[in-house]
Amino acid sequence: MEHVKCLIIGSGPAGYTAAIYTSRANLQPVVYEGLAPGGQLTMTTEVENFPGYPDGVDGTAMMEEIRRQALRFGADIRSGLIVKADLSERPFTLTTDGGHTLKADVLIAATGATATYLGLPSEAAYMGQGVSACATCDGFFYRKQDVAVVGGGDTACEDALYLAGLCRKVYMIVRRNVLRASKAMQERVLAAPNIEVLWEHQAKEILGDANGVNAVRLVSAKGEEKTIAVTGFFVAIGHHPNTELFKSWLTLDEQGYIVTKGRGTATDVEGVFACGDVQDPVYRQAITAAASGCMAAIDAERFLMEKG
Ligand code: NDP
Repeated sequence: MEHVKCLIIGSGPAGYTAAIYTSRANLQPVVYEGLAPGGQLTMTTEVENFPGYPDGVDGTAMMEEIRRQALRFGADIRSGLIVKADLSERPFTLTTDGGHTLKADVLIAATGATATYLGLPSEAAYMGQGVSACATCDGFFYRKQDVAVVGGGDTACEDALYLAGLCRKVYMIVRRNVLRASKAMQERVLAAPNIEVLWEHQAKEILGDANGVNAVRLVSAKGEEKTIAVTGFFVAIGHHPNTELFKSWLTLDEQGYIVTKGRGTATDVEGVFACGDVQDPVYRQAITAAASGCMAAIDAERFLMEKG
């Protein structure tokens, strides 16, 4: 059985940043990258809002650079999944998908969250070429253009309002005849002159060509079809935090996100820290995830120092 000081699960901005800080603090971190090395940023194209990249950067390339930075300080980054966790006592026991067992003095959970998509084949085909689950990340690319947002919750309303400030027209595709969002959000959406809510409609197919998305085919509750011309298709039907591994051990909120204490990253199990989207239903940005990865590393280092 392998014994490590610090085990990090997850390889988005939070996990890799935690790896940079813990390796520089000589915690000799072992990182398991999980199913999607690089995390959600590898699903986008250009990242323009991460400080330090004035000309923008490809999401995958940026994650490769952060990974390389962690490797430079000696982080042991491994492909593979942690499939089982026993957090009943320290050191914690973790098992990989290859059946390898590790004991870890501290654990940093950075498993992220996954955006829910509609599941249409055409949606997958145009991912990053007009289809996005992050209006804050990608909205800027569609300024002065017509776009669609699918969903009727607070995220969809927030995205529609954000996009309405950038785009010529925003269609909101809502499957019922009501919005799930808070009253205040609903009022703002309905008052926006360039947002048109398409009630009781569902997206059936995303249409496009080599340049990306150019339209969406919709079907109404009555079965009538119509096509709207849009270049951006923003999916805002929810996210699910990747907390399956931790749910028997850590306190999760009603949406399944790991609950951390106060302003820090400590969970309710001593020695387990959480950072990034797995504990953040609110901001969900690469920069906030990276910042909380740094916080988790510092919290883990201080914890180990106190415990001798
Ligand atoms: P929600 O689960 O609240 O809303 C999801 C929306 O997507 C619903 O309107 C739902 O429709 C729709 N939807 C789900 N699946 C499909 C589908 N297959 N096809 C079409 N539409 C679909 O998710 P959110 O991400 O909006 O919000 C998550 C939580 O975060 C909520 O508690 C929300 O209040 C909170 N939040 C708060 C914000 C704030 O306070 N500023 C900002 C963003 C989120 P239906 O209603 O028919 O089920």
